Amino acid sequence: MHFPWCLKKCPYCDFLSVARPRDEIPSEAYADAVIAEFDRRRPSLGDYSPNSIFFGGGTPSLWAPTALGRVLRHITDTLGTTPNELEITVECNPNSLNGEHASALADQGVGRLSIGLQNLDAKQLKFLGRLHSPNEGLQALEAAVASPVPRVSADLIFGISGQEASTAADMAGVVADLGPTHVSAYALTIEPGTEFGARERKGTLPILPDEAIADTYSAVEECLEARGFEHYEISNYATDGHHSEHNVGYWTGREYLGLGCGAWGTLAGTRYRNTTVPTRYTESSTRWASTNLDEHGPGRLINEIEPLSPKTRLSERILLNLRLASGFDIEEAARQLGTEAWPDDRQRAAARLVARGRLARDGSRIYIPKAQWLFADDTIARLM
Ligand code: SF4
Repeated sequence: MHFPWCLKKCPYCDFLSVARPRDEIPSEAYADAVIAEFDRRRPSLGDYSPNSIFFGGGTPSLWAPTALGRVLRHITDTLGTTPNELEITVECNPNSLNGEHASALADQGVGRLSIGLQNLDAKQLKFLGRLHSPNEGLQALEAAVASPVPRVSADLIFGISGQEASTAADMAGVVADLGPTHVSAYALTIEPGTEFGARERKGTLPILPDEAIADTYSAVEECLEARGFEHYEISNYATDGHHSEHNVGYWTGREYLGLGCGAWGTLAGTRYRNTTVPTRYTESSTRWASTNLDEHGPGRLINEIEPLSPKTRLSERILLNLRLASGFDIEEAARQLGTEAWPDDRQRAAARLVARGRLARDGSRIYIPKAQWLFADDTIARLM
């Protein structure tokens, strides 16, 4: 479920997010709109039964907890389940999360908070365009861990110009010691449609060299593994099996219902994306009871629809599933999707990658050995 507003647009971010002052965010109207969308989609969902609900954004911690809870209850009641049976995550930013807010979300049935801490260095936070200070980040994490919400994840971004591998590892250690059950540690990527992308094209964006990013990646991994975190996906670490059920769903190719402005969904082998204009999404919702879900384009609920061929779906499985330490059974996936696992060019690419140690095969299961994760993008591209 996508919540499209933030207090400010970060210069590296290519998610759909629109800056809006906190008191101008229409929490109740947005809840009404999401419920209207869900009700319209419900008849075509068949026996759809979710494992998880993820409120992402944008900044869903700006959504009034009672409004978010109203949507959550409507969906779980309609689908005949309860929040307790699902992994329910809300993404939060430090300047819109405190102990009281975390408790209010727990009261609504939220069981997992994912906090965009990103960094603990004031200069680097400023470079990333974040609104919070290092202390505010730490206070939000402490409050979340002390709250009744049982599972807390912290997001970190590393590979920032001027960052040493040892300071990145120290930062991960400070965060890990505060008691989250999960840490996501992403290397800063420069997306073309962002302010950072424009600065990179002009040559004015300071960039950390690849070797330094690799050193940082290894230092962060070493630090978190020493504290008992399992490195279960290229950028994700969990304690005691607290993997992100929701993200594992994406990585293993499960289908998902997307709701909200700009949300992506994949159902019955078709991907769709909702309108990306928040006012249009909210203000048009009264029309959706009669909207045609097969139509898309400007002014409609759905912006784009793409039927996915079995071949494309297998390529996506390679792209996502190989991010997991366990990899996946490519022949089983191909059978399920009704396509060929090993066309000649993929067979040849896999043989070369195995010979170089970049890829491992165990029967029909393929995986990227951990020591080779830094080259995962290249390995995956060759297999796709
Ligand atoms: S707060 Fe998150 S979603 Fe919003 S602009 Fe920044 S990175 Fe993007």
